[in-house]
Amino acid sequence: MKYGRTYNFSAGPAMMPEPVLEEIQSEMMNYRGSGMCVMEMSHRSKVFQQIRDEAEADLRKLMGIPDNYKVLFVQGGGTVQFAMVAMNLMKNEGGKACYVETGAWSKKAIKEAQKYGEVKIVASSADKNFSYIPDCSDLDIPDDADYVYICENETINGTTYYELPNTKGKVLVADQSSMFLSRPCDVSKYGLIWAGVQKNVGPAGMAVVIIREDLIRDDLPKFVPTYLSYKTHADNDSLYNTPNCWAIYCCGKVFKYLLDNGGLEAMNKRNEEKAAILYDFLDNSKYFKGAVVKKDRSLMNVPFVSPSKDEDAAVVAASKAAGFDNLKGHKSVGGLRASIYNAMPKDGVEALVDFLRKYEEEHA
Ligand code: PMP
Repeated sequence: MKYGRTYNFSAGPAMMPEPVLEEIQSEMMNYRGSGMCVMEMSHRSKVFQQIRDEAEADLRKLMGIPDNYKVLFVQGGGTVQFAMVAMNLMKNEGGKACYVETGAWSKKAIKEAQKYGEVKIVASSADKNFSYIPDCSDLDIPDDADYVYICENETINGTTYYELPNTKGKVLVADQSSMFLSRPCDVSKYGLIWAGVQKNVGPAGMAVVIIREDLIRDDLPKFVPTYLSYKTHADNDSLYNTPNCWAIYCCGKVFKYLLDNGGLEAMNKRNEEKAAILYDFLDNSKYFKGAVVKKDRSLMNVPFVSPSKDEDAAVVAASKAAGFDNLKGHKSVGGLRASIYNAMPKDGVEALVDFLRKYEEEHA
């Protein structure tokens, strides 16, 4: 690879498109004649305002976001959204929400929401180690539920939804962190989509929130900090305080890059091709085994195992020596995991499969 870069299979922060990094590098010392780097720029300046506005406009175009949705850039990454969703969408008294439990990140969301109201787990795949997405076609959703929450792609467990739950008319909220912009998305089916950007889009520390306007409230309980009200961000174009200017700038570059390269349809096609290379290998391997049922496996995060924990560790060490980075599975589940987000080139997946095939020939 150029610049001595490595194929980085990290679950996030993760690889960025090289042309984007090169463009950022070229603008580092003097952004388009402004005489300064974007890092040094006032968030109230005209030039930054344009960067922000273009980022939002490009994201709207990319996802086809309807006019009755606000796009917010909120600091604090994904974890802050676990709390913000519950604080902002649960009723003040007797708040109740339905959560689908599919793995590590939905569990964290559930734990956080329980601080603010009643959480009903309406479906779970805990019985099989979160290796599948439960049937969500006929969930038992109470009439007074404020919303139904899913983690649309479980980064650690490697599952994804190919069909959205039937929410029986209730607002659907989705954590799209590890699949954001990896495939087309009909925003109108959701009340709120949020995504930490450090996997498919940009630097860590920021989340994009796409929220239907009627869900933005101004009667939140007094304990809700000003910064954690969606209304604060919606009323101020995400410029209530000093935002994560650098992340907005980098994300904006990626939005443009995706628009210039065929948009989300093209991304989906590329991602399907890339994932198929790895899954075909795993399906035919006698040594390695995928950890997720076929119908629910993610195109972004591919967890797999070798015959034993010791062998998992040996494969990870050998992969590192061969120039691949971050293939160790999350500490909570073990094994291996290849995260192959938008910016992972097809060559990277092919090279990984070549390595794994050779490893199997030598060790099986
Ligand atoms: N949701 C999902 C699906 C994630 O993968 C992550 C991070 N890996 C988070 C939430 C939490 O994001 P952050 O680390 O930015 O708080």
